[in-house]
Amino acid sequence: MSKYISTNVDCQSQPNTMVVCKSCGSNRVVRYGSYKGRQKWLCRECGRVSTANGAKPGMRIPAEVVADAKALRKMGLPYSKIQEKLGRDHGIRPSTATLHGWFSKERGMK
Ligand SMILES: [Zn+2]
Repeated sequence: MSKYISTNVDCQSQPNTMVVCKSCGSNRVVRYGSYKGRQKWLCRECGRVSTANGAKPGMRIPAEVVADAKALRKMGLPYSKIQEKLGRDHGIRPSTATLHGWFSKERGMK
């Protein structure tokens, strides 16, 4: 696995202290473009790419988690799998009712 894609990294910004790598906890992360409007970060320590997550435990669920959940749902994953994946990726496991709320909202516009 070669996850070190240094040529693609946008290094224009100053080092940030807000974002830390979810895999190793390092703050040596750099901007790595964005995906569906979410800023992505590349960790210089372990080379993993993650999305920004400024939320602390107990705070309301960040939009990126909702976006992730919706993307997974579009891929046809069942709620249980989505909860599992969000738990792993974001440390957040929304209830089934919460997920249902997000997805029905998305179906949108009456
Ligand atoms: Zn890392």
